[in-house]
Amino acid sequence: MRGLTFHGNGIVAVDDVADPTLAAPTDAIVKITMAGICGSDLHILNAGEAFGFEPGARLGHEFIGTLVEVGSDVRGFAPGDRVMVAVGVSCGHCVWCQEGIRASCEQMSIFGWAPRLWRHGGAVEGGQSEYARVPLAQTTMIRIPEAVAASEHETKLVPIVDVMSTAMHGLVTGRLHPGDDVVVIGDGAVALSAVHCARALGAENIICFGHHDDRLALARTLGATATSDVRDPAEIAEFAANATRGQGARVVVDAVSNADSMQAAHGSVRPGGTISCLGMDHFMGKTPSVNWFDQFVRNITISGGLLPTGLYIPRLLELLAEGEIDPSPMLTNTLSLEDAAEGYRMMAERREGAVKVALKIA
Ligand SMILES: [Zn+2]
Ligand SMILES: [Zn+2]
Repeated sequence: MRGLTFHGNGIVAVDDVADPTLAAPTDAIVKITMAGICGSDLHILNAGEAFGFEPGARLGHEFIGTLVEVGSDVRGFAPGDRVMVAVGVSCGHCVWCQEGIRASCEQMSIFGWAPRLWRHGGAVEGGQSEYARVPLAQTTMIRIPEAVAASEHETKLVPIVDVMSTAMHGLVTGRLHPGDDVVVIGDGAVALSAVHCARALGAENIICFGHHDDRLALARTLGATATSDVRDPAEIAEFAANATRGQGARVVVDAVSNADSMQAAHGSVRPGGTISCLGMDHFMGKTPSVNWFDQFVRNITISGGLLPTGLYIPRLLELLAEGEIDPSPMLTNTLSLEDAAEGYRMMAERREGAVKVALKIA
């Protein structure tokens, strides 16, 4: 079969790779119909060697498809079922899964990511491919409801796997309530997802800060009540104060998470509010700096963190079926699997109009 592989820093390509087979009775094999390219995939493209990626490793952790083979211990699924596969493998019964911290599951692995964590008889290979093996399939897969299972809905479904779920994690751990004000720092797919989820959860003012006019226009489409391209943290704080009756936001989603964005977050959060860190710039050595004086004096909570794999997918599927969300506008480009490397370049170069690329595979 064909699959996207890492060829060393800066190079990915679609190659002939081994067909996946059932390696355990808890596995399933999914024929992938659509996959997404994630901002975190770009970190692998740029610096995968530092994370332990070797040439030949397959990438991709956002994918949906149709079951073609189901191991004998996987209950409640059958070939032909339409499924969404969570970003990572989780067992569903260890203490961390029970507490909802599935990213810390004792059997955690992320599809196409973090090779040092790969378990389950070797690499959990990525889903920017024609097929994937899904370990612990019963808890790692989520059935797609009949109402949205047709291929015409795929562009609404793919963002739910990771970016919408990650955004929901930021807002839920940020204790967002209807009527609260939200500031979102960043204009990538996770930031746009935070805007869209905040609207679905009943936020009042949703203010998005970014650097790209096309993306800020998309933020307004997805629910932002105000957007701005100011960069200076003091100007961001002033804009946020003006848009929130001088109070600041109850929840600030920092989808960048570096030193500057954290300064802007501190400037735009209200006393007693929460800064939810969802960005991954610290993976690239740009460590965010919490202002611990501000945290103490104004009772600021710091939350967010790595998405608990799969946890928010059922709720997001409900919101989708109810018509409360439609994240498809953030999938700005759809390419074939063979053009996947071009999709990486489009996103890495932040080409005008290209926010997030989907791969239509089957
Ligand atoms: Zn991702
Ligand atoms: Zn677990």
